Amino acid sequence: MPNSALPTSIVIFGASGDLTRRKLIPSLFNLFRKGRLPERFHIIGFAGTRFEGDQFRIRLREGLSQFARYSFTEEEWETFAAHIAYRPGRYDARADFESLDAALRAWEAGPANRLYYLATPPSLFPVIIALLGETGQAHEEGGWRHVIVEKPFGTDLESARALNEQIHRVLHERQIYRIDHYLGKETVQNILMFRFANAIFEPLWNRNYIDHVQITVAEQVDVGHRARYYDGVGVLRDMFQNHLMQLLTLVAMEPPASFEADALRNEKVKVLRSVNPITAEEVATETVRAQYEGYCETEGVAPDSVTPTYAALRLYIDNWRWKGVPFYLRSGKALAEKLTQIVIQFKEPPHLMFPLPPERPITPNMLVLYLQPDEGVHLRFEAKVPDTIAEMRSVNMEFHYADEFGPTAIPEAYERLLLDAIQGDASLFTRADEVEAAWSLIDPIIAAWEEREQPPLARYARGSWGPVEADELLARDGRAWVGRGVHASGKR
Ligand code: NDP
Repeated sequence: MPNSALPTSIVIFGASGDLTRRKLIPSLFNLFRKGRLPERFHIIGFAGTRFEGDQFRIRLREGLSQFARYSFTEEEWETFAAHIAYRPGRYDARADFESLDAALRAWEAGPANRLYYLATPPSLFPVIIALLGETGQAHEEGGWRHVIVEKPFGTDLESARALNEQIHRVLHERQIYRIDHYLGKETVQNILMFRFANAIFEPLWNRNYIDHVQITVAEQVDVGHRARYYDGVGVLRDMFQNHLMQLLTLVAMEPPASFEADALRNEKVKVLRSVNPITAEEVATETVRAQYEGYCETEGVAPDSVTPTYAALRLYIDNWRWKGVPFYLRSGKALAEKLTQIVIQFKEPPHLMFPLPPERPITPNMLVLYLQPDEGVHLRFEAKVPDTIAEMRSVNMEFHYADEFGPTAIPEAYERLLLDAIQGDASLFTRADEVEAAWSLIDPIIAAWEEREQPPLARYARGSWGPVEADELLARDGRAWVGRGVHASGKR
């Protein structure tokens, strides 16, 4: 029997939590509606909470009303819900894991595949994986055993290494799916398509033609109900180590030889290893850290907290393609807009034959990959203003996903990731060495910030684009951040 024809058990640990009803069940349900789940599948929630009767499924149904971005019929839900069960248990109780296994075996009635999803706080990852090992549930007998590990993966290099070691005691690397939901986003995957399925841009994608790159992940929301957690973490651990570093690797990587998981991930790791680490001596000039005004008054935040809610970095990649090209990365909370974009700013033409007035210099070409919202790609170039001798203006050529593929074409990132983990494709998941390489770039910055208290913690107003210090980071190089909807003239 081919592996895909085996029954598949999807076990969610921490199934009473927020992620399960917000993302996992809406995504699994939509995959089911599209006919993409295995023919015989079963979803088992496992957590400490006791649910009476049908309470668990009712909770999930309510979650769908709140979070599903598609419409469905009650009949579809009922058909799907018949595949869902729940078992209360303790994450550290061997007996509970044994009875989970017995229940799974009873349903599977023979060889089966299993996907375990760790949707618990990270502190529980090691104990759950250890018990899966001890009770023989990680052993691939007849079918595969895959484990999705949620973020955050460690809080620094040392803890990430320790977690990798603990996991590797039980699982082979090929069984592990470390999730970074950014990689499940269509627009993030499109970075690869854009670069490697179009012949016209790749020849320009290097230090000869690119002046600099900007990566912005701006959040409009403040820390909100995550305040207590966030205050011990800060923006570098929360956003840079994972999402921004992933975007950096996709923009900067060499073309992999194939679309195979390890070929792709090898190239990403090479990028991370080529980044020139920011040293303690350099943090004052290469980084900006800031906190939005009023952060310390948030419930759950220490009144004297110096946790940064915003950071900007200038990084260099020391390789043949990128030597000398600055990559400016910024991310923060309580900013003016929700915006994720990558700006590729090209160099100015080497020689201008046009008689340009000094107050209207030429604007260099710019390519902007809009990852969210208003997903798309814009290319800015110069055009002659009609009825003038040689006056020029910047114009935009725009592609919007919504126009081309319809307003609801983009699925939830978790759909793709869950399906890939079921199908055994780890391309969009981070490998052990990748996670560690990213931490090894972030750790020294955090350490230097804390030990040297440099650069001073800047402040910024809620609803702004961040601190002036971040503008100065680019202004020193004669550059400026690019906001959303770059006006054809190049102004925000
Ligand atoms: P929750 O805080 O809702 O926790 C999930 C479940 O774990 C809870 O229902 C609870 O179940 C159990 N649990 C929570 N805290 C403890 C504890 N201290 N000791 C023992 N059990 C505990 O987490 P989420 O569902 O929000 O997130 C799960 C994972 O997914 C986390 O790693 C998170 O970082 C990640 N994530 C979440 C996102 C989201 O949108 N929620 C988005 C991206 C990532 P019980 O008491 O029933 O055992």
